[in-house]
Amino acid sequence: MAVPNAVAGLLQRPARLGDEVYGRIFSQIMSLDIAPGTRISVDALARELGVSQTPIREALGRLEGEGLVTKTHLVGYRAAPRLSAQQFDDLYDLRLLLEPYAAAMAAQKISDADIGHLVDLSGQMDGAGEQGSLDEYAHFARFDMEFHDQVAVSSGNGLASEALGRLHTHVHLFRLAYHEQAIAAALREHAVVVSAIAARDAAGAHEAMQLHIEKSRARFVSRIER
Ligand SMILES: [Zn+2]
Repeated sequence: MAVPNAVAGLLQRPARLGDEVYGRIFSQIMSLDIAPGTRISVDALARELGVSQTPIREALGRLEGEGLVTKTHLVGYRAAPRLSAQQFDDLYDLRLLLEPYAAAMAAQKISDADIGHLVDLSGQMDGAGEQGSLDEYAHFARFDMEFHDQVAVSSGNGLASEALGRLHTHVHLFRLAYHEQAIAAALREHAVVVSAIAARDAAGAHEAMQLHIEKSRARFVSRIER
């Protein structure tokens, strides 16, 4: 998957075939080209992308680990199903418990190098949302995921980051609907979180993350069928 600006710069290595195949399928699932719950044919993808089945299977295995794809014996791969209303509520309730806490802990424990990484991630996301395309939206989803992962890991609480990782939040949310305005709003909210963490302001980071998640819930709640 292409990095949309030069943040990665000279350190960026040429994309390996596996990464490229993975990125293509990731985008198709996030942008609903492959609809939730639909069967994914290894054969058809191999033909479409002009590669053998091996990198396709590797990519699907990786996507399975990230919650985008499920694998069933004898049936094969499917795109993960849509969130139910109950799952949506559970997801946000748990995020509201864990993520503001993680942000506050990160403000106290994060290394200087990881502050740099958070700032970089926000910078990479800055270009997102300008074209308003679905593919771009899928890219934004990936950056958002990395951003929240980094905050959780920087909290130093391995159980909290593991629990958050298992929710596969972004996979589910971003497939609820294509939501152009969500990108700009989320970026502004992220910037507040990053500056509080960089200033090592635990209370400020807690509050900023809580606000971001409450606003995110409000942005997506109308897309859920009750
Ligand atoms: Zn976010």
